[in-house]
Amino acid sequence: MIQHLSGQGKKTAGIVLRDARELALMREAGRIVAKVHEALRQALRPGISTSALDAIAEDVIRSHDAIPAFLGYHGFPASICTSINDEIVHGIPSPERFLNEGDIISIDVGVTYRGWVGDSAWTYPVGEIGEDARALLEAAEGALWAGIEQARSGNRLGDISAAIQAYAESRGFAIIREYAGHGVGRQMHEPPKILNYGQPGTGMRLRPGMTFALEPMVAVGHWLTRVDADGWTVRTQDGSLSAHFEHTLAVTEGDPMIMTIL
Ligand code: MG
Ligand code: MG
Repeated sequence: MIQHLSGQGKKTAGIVLRDARELALMREAGRIVAKVHEALRQALRPGISTSALDAIAEDVIRSHDAIPAFLGYHGFPASICTSINDEIVHGIPSPERFLNEGDIISIDVGVTYRGWVGDSAWTYPVGEIGEDARALLEAAEGALWAGIEQARSGNRLGDISAAIQAYAESRGFAIIREYAGHGVGRQMHEPPKILNYGQPGTGMRLRPGMTFALEPMVAVGHWLTRVDADGWTVRTQDGSLSAHFEHTLAVTEGDPMIMTIL
């Protein structure tokens, strides 16, 4: 009997290419991530604590026989990241942190299912939000979709990066430069690093079976960041609002296959 070594298959430019069976498993992991987001979207309201959101997420993940991929990752103490307003990524859920009307909250969810990882972040409005926040969310989500549109066989990595950057900057927002998207599959973070800014026509050629997490982080003000004393929470140095949208996807012969949807 020949053992099938998942994730040890064909490589190009150092990147593992996943076969149809593996992509189907990643799709299942991604579907669980999407279910978590759906549950969180319904729970979001002024007054709820971020640790209550974390508990909801962990419940959904474990009820699908999956594992919260973030919990314990480099010591991260929760199942999701909750980053509010000027916080960009890696905010830690807390029983003492409550959502307020008008906040925006970026929630990042990672799930491991049968050894495969799904990773998706979304920024949600809490109640009614201001005009600048609404424009930021549109620009950041649009930047993600612009990047996904370029995740096609024959394109280059820089085509994704440039499309993300162009979408956000053309709307007057800044791309956070100190954090990036990544390959994903057996591990949450695999090569390549996928910058959210760059030049079209540069970088690695994309091939069917490559699996990426694209995740633009966008700010109203400057892109410089700082990390809080907790060692995790990343926020904008200038205190401006920030948003984060992420999907896990596969490059195919045709349209990108988005894993982290229902
Ligand atoms: Mg993520
Ligand atoms: Mg990610």
